[in-house]
Amino acid sequence: MHEAMLYSKRDDNKVSCHLCARRCTINEGKLGYCQVRKNTQGTLHTLVYGKACSANPDPIEKKPLWHFRPGSLVMSVATVGCNFRCQFCQNWQISHEREIVGRALSPEKIIDLAFQTGCSGISYTYSEPTIFFEYAYDIAKIAHEKGLFNTFVTNGYLTPEAIETIAPYLDAATVDFKGNGNPSFYKKYCNVSSVNPIYDALKAMKAAGIHIELTNLVVTDVGDDIQDAKNLAQWIVTELGEETPLHLLRFYPHHKMRNLPPTPIKTLEESASASTRAGLKYVYLGNVPGHQGANTICANCGALLIERLGVHTTSVRLTRQGHCPSCNLPIPIVLSKESSNSD
Ligand code: SF4
Ligand SMILES: [Zn+2]
Repeated sequence: MHEAMLYSKRDDNKVSCHLCARRCTINEGKLGYCQVRKNTQGTLHTLVYGKACSANPDPIEKKPLWHFRPGSLVMSVATVGCNFRCQFCQNWQISHEREIVGRALSPEKIIDLAFQTGCSGISYTYSEPTIFFEYAYDIAKIAHEKGLFNTFVTNGYLTPEAIETIAPYLDAATVDFKGNGNPSFYKKYCNVSSVNPIYDALKAMKAAGIHIELTNLVVTDVGDDIQDAKNLAQWIVTELGEETPLHLLRFYPHHKMRNLPPTPIKTLEESASASTRAGLKYVYLGNVPGHQGANTICANCGALLIERLGVHTTSVRLTRQGHCPSCNLPIPIVLSKESSNSD
């Protein structure tokens, strides 16, 4: 077993975990809420270190990261476990798994796999990277030494201590909101009592210079309030900046929420309009293959700059400096050799 990072010992053989905002106090012999961190005789261990239930290459667009190294491949790494219990989780087989399953893959082996499959970076994804923090941290350090970038796909429920620790190695993060960020939605459908830690984490990531993209899963009827969408967009504009990409994701029935239909496209389009009116420059629709809302349009002149289909970038029309070729507006996209003009 691998000793955990970011915890403190207490006199009574209990431990306090400082990784995520649940800040569990764990009795001797017991597990934290995420089910993958165990107190053994007053020492906290991670049960998932080196046990990857996913290690496969993905297009970076799948995360989604659409303004960071478009066209590149990332090695997607996950273990079992999660600190949320979303009733609509599409990865519930791994995130809510109680048994520790996975292939024994050392951090070095993950890096080897990344190079063998042509990846430019590592993405910690599918389940919640916060709960396999030690594994992610060790992989991320080697990745940087070898010239690979690192990205988290996270619910954002990390502590400031966790962000400070991973920040030197974390290049980009996709932070996932659910139900337009409505606090009651989080309580009822994710078993999360406060959304404030997510906002604090985002501000800390921004201050640390990490590239941030946000998603918001718009859930049919129960998580699609238009005023909530406006409030969320206004907060993003004020705290993270108007150029922060926001991906509005279509909900599909999954897990315990199979009774609801997929989000109507009209609802997504209305949320997108409200977010744009609130000042956001790059609002996208996700999980709607073929929709124009997946493309990047110049915020100044309206020129079509990047086209996407599903999780693939199909054409890029930017100058070498990353500007709009029609009006020369700088477009806030971190380019790389993979993303040179593909027209
Ligand atoms: S990472 Fe797990 S053990 Fe630690 S506070 Fe979060 S849920 Fe609790
Ligand atoms: Zn333009």
